[in-house]
Order: sequence, then structure tokens, then C-alpha cells
Amino acid sequence: MTSNILSGTPVVPGVVYGPAARITNEIPLSAVDAYRRRPPGDPEELLLAYDSAVARVAESLHARSANASGSAAEVLVATAGLVRDKGLRHAVHKRLEAREPLLTAVSGAVEEFTVLFTKMGGLMAERVTDLEDIERRITARIVGVAEPGLVLPAEPSVLVAEDLAPADTAGLDPGRILALVTERGGPTSHTAIIARQLGLPCIVAASGVTSVPDGTRLLVDGTSGTIESEPDATHANRRVAQGRAWRERLATWCGPARTADGAPVKLLANVADGRSARAAAPKPVEGVGLFRTELCFLSRETEPDVEIQAAIYAEVLAAFDTGRTVVIRTLDAGSDKPIPYATSAGEDNPALGVRGLRLSFANSGLLERQLDAVALAAATTGTSPWVMAPMVATVDEAAGFAAEVRSRGLTAGIMVETPAAALLADRILDVVDFVSIGTNDLTQYAMAADRLAADLAHLTDPWQPAVLRLVAMTAEAGRRLGKPVGVCGEAAADPLLACVLVGLGVTSLSMAPAAVPSVGVQVESVTAEQCRAAAENVMRAVDPQEARELARAVLTPA
Ligand code: PEP
Ligand code: MG
Repeated sequence: MTSNILSGTPVVPGVVYGPAARITNEIPLSAVDAYRRRPPGDPEELLLAYDSAVARVAESLHARSANASGSAAEVLVATAGLVRDKGLRHAVHKRLEAREPLLTAVSGAVEEFTVLFTKMGGLMAERVTDLEDIERRITARIVGVAEPGLVLPAEPSVLVAEDLAPADTAGLDPGRILALVTERGGPTSHTAIIARQLGLPCIVAASGVTSVPDGTRLLVDGTSGTIESEPDATHANRRVAQGRAWRERLATWCGPARTADGAPVKLLANVADGRSARAAAPKPVEGVGLFRTELCFLSRETEPDVEIQAAIYAEVLAAFDTGRTVVIRTLDAGSDKPIPYATSAGEDNPALGVRGLRLSFANSGLLERQLDAVALAAATTGTSPWVMAPMVATVDEAAGFAAEVRSRGLTAGIMVETPAAALLADRILDVVDFVSIGTNDLTQYAMAADRLAADLAHLTDPWQPAVLRLVAMTAEAGRRLGKPVGVCGEAAADPLLACVLVGLGVTSLSMAPAAVPSVGVQVESVTAEQCRAAAENVMRAVDPQEARELARAVLTPA
């Protein structure tokens, strides 16, 4: 037996071993051919056939939603809504009037919507899978066969698919499924949402996985994002047992994080407001590594005055007033986080436009008022927050920001989110007290790939060697200058990558509090030397898969 390892984006952790069951969702060609041979009807007659197919598809989705619960039910109802979409019907009607046959009109209209959704990007782009699913269902009803659906194998299996449509994933019986693995999709796709709800290990964007023949035994690791075909059975069963033990450790882990040989690793929380800070405070975190202040103001039409802002910031500081550090990020408005009072609409390319610190260039006093509010909140809570700016690209910007922050008695830093800041990390660290690497944007800008584009998930991967080199460069500058270099992007929450970051010399890892135990347990299972070896190894990688494999090779539990 040969063993092959594929990688994708890990979404839900857990290790399982079992046969692959491929879902193809194909409609029998013979039925489609037979339908096409029928004499063409007139447009109104064909529209009636379309309406009747749509009604039956929507009905069956509603019926299934009645037997499902939570997000599974919501997903089915939303898909039923899309089937009945008036715009889609109108597009079909127009094509019928242009004398297109019904099946061609349906696929043409769906294609129009697919192009539109893809252009809109983000969550809308992820609904393309829904469109493809409803096209198959409507087609099945028109040609008179059963709607395509999952036929679950008798033995619990790893479901493998191009992408799972909501109607496939909703109502899955988790007792008969070991894991979900898809070739496409992003971390916010329906597959991911349903997998999280069902607690099924899940990997998306696993390139090549649909070529795996049915019945191939797969070892799926939802933590590292790997899928091993036909592994040695003893090795696979050992990994599954380790996975189970690991989950038990997660449930009882209470920090603080240390490597197996005792080196401390500072784990911090990412928070959005007072409520999330109070929820994070009892968790095993040593402070807040990123307070995204813009999330408090997303729907505000006018700028809150200094006192109102100070009260909001004070809530977060008060939740962590027991000597734990809180890093406050100044307004990161713009691009995917527009704020009516701060950002200008209509930029052609907002991710590269006036966002983050750049908002202060032409909006006199915006940054100063926010810093006054932070200083006021610090005074009223008796705390000493650190303050950092997002989207910095030059040493001058960093120095100007640091001067403003320090003049208020606060500690000053910046986020390393642009390749420019990483390349200049040594010069920037000369003028600030600390930096924190925002790997989400650093990856987006290093790879020139929109972080919300599901189709570019293979590029917006922080394991990309180009990104790892920028991180290494920044960490190295921090080490030389003896200044803290944290990571507060999603990369910090990837347990394997967290060890690499520690090995690179990163001094703190900040993440969603829910991710803290996974990172803590992983860090505890390896030595500082293993982390350093992993960091050294990944520098040789030419792609994310190789980087993961090179890290994994030296990060086996000590
Ligand atoms: C980042 O870019 O990695 C980051 C932490 O900032 P945000 O995700 O809020 O842009
Ligand atoms: Mg960012």
C-alpha cells in the first residue's frame, strides 16, 4: 500500500480513520437525454413546467427543514428561498422567450447568477454552491427523476465531495459520518458551518481529494488539515487514539502555556467589546492581544465623543484589571469594515485604500480623540494599556503614531500587516515599543489575494512560504532589538503553526478565546527545541503543504 498525504484548510479538529464515500450528485444522463429529445414547448408552457419543478424542490427543502434544527434548518429554508427567487425566474423566462430549451434556459440563468455572486465576493461567492445545487434539483424535477442527494454508506465513512451543498449537509446523521472533506469551500462555507454544529472533523479546500477512489481508507486530521490515503492501519489507529486523548486534555486544560521543557508561551485573547472581554477574562489567557475597537462602532453615523469612547474602552480594561496586559488597536475602519462616520464610500480598491491608520491622514483629530479616550479609560481603571495602529506601511507613520501614544503616557506599537512593515521591521522597532503581526492582512497583501475570496483560499493561507519569511524577518528583528513581537491574526490559532511561530521567536499569540486550549495543549506537547527545528524546517518549503509537512515532521509529541 502506498500512503499519500493531501492537505486542506482545517475547520473542525479531530482525528478519524475510515473509508472514503464520494458524493457526486449527478443526474442520470439517460434521463436528461430522453427529456431533450422531446418536442420543444412554447415559452409559457415551459415556464409552467419550471414553476412546477421549483415548487416541488422548495417543498421538499421545507419538508426537510421541518425535521432539522438550528443552522441546518436555517440553511434549508434559505436554499428554498433561493429556489423561488423572482430574479432567477425572470432570467429563465427571458431565455425561454428567446426560444432557448428549458434545461438550457435554467443552466444559463443560474450561470448569470453564479457570475454575479462570484463578482460580489465574500459570503455571496460561497452561495455559488447553493446555486449549483438548486440547478441540479430543478433539472431533476424537470426531467422527472428523484432529486440528487446523499446515499450514506452502511459503514461510517469520510464524506468526500467537490463542495457540499446546504441541502446535502443539513440533516446529516453524524452517527454514520466520520468527517467531511471537500475540494472547494472556505472556512465560512455551509460545509464548515454544519460541520461545526455537528462536531464533525472537517477540512475544506483540500485540493485533489475528489480524485481519491471510493472506499480508500483515509486518516483525516481536522487539526492539521491533512488527509492520508491508505496509511498503515496501526499508525492510523494510534493517531485516532492520540486524537481522543488530545480532546480529553483540551477539556481540562487550564494554562498557563509552557512547552514540554517549561518555556513559557504567552497566550492572549482577541476581543471586540466589553462583553467579549468579560467572557474571555476567566479563560486561561494572560491578557488581551487585540481589542478591535472598530467593531464597537460599525453602525455609528457620527463619531462618538471622547467620554463615550472612554467608557467603552474602560469596560474592556476593567475586565482585565488584574495586572494582565490589554493591547488596544486604534480604529481599523475601511475595506471590509466600513464605518459611516470614518470611511469614504466608493473607493475603487478599498483594501488598498484609506483604511486603518490612513484614516487619520485627512481626518484631523480622529486619531488624537481616540487616543485621548484610551488615556482617559486607562486613568479611570488604573491600568496601563498598550496601543497599536493598524495598516502601517512606513517608518514615518510608525514614529508619528508612537509620538502621539507616548505623549499620553501609553506604550506604543504597530501591527505588521503590510509586507512593507515586515521588510522594515528592524527600523520600525527602533521607533516603537512592540509590534503585533496581523497575519490575516499580511497574507492578503503578500499574496495579493482578497482574504474573503473563497476561491483563493489556497493563496490566503498563512503557511505560504512568502508569508512565513515575512513573519520570520519580523520576529528576528524583535529578537535583535529585545522588543516584543506578537501574532494576533488567525495563524496564532492554528496549533501547529503556533509552534512554528514560537520557534521563530514570536513572544505572544493572540486568538479567539475558544482556540486557546487547542494551542495550549499542542504547545505543551513539544519542546522549545522542536519549535525551533520546525521554524528552521519551514523556511525550506516551497508551498504551504510542504511547510506543514516539514513542521509536522519535527513536531511529534515529545
Ligand atoms: C490581521 O489582519 O491579521 C488582524 C488581526 O486584523 P483584522 O483581522 O482585524 O484585519
Ligand atoms: Mg488586519
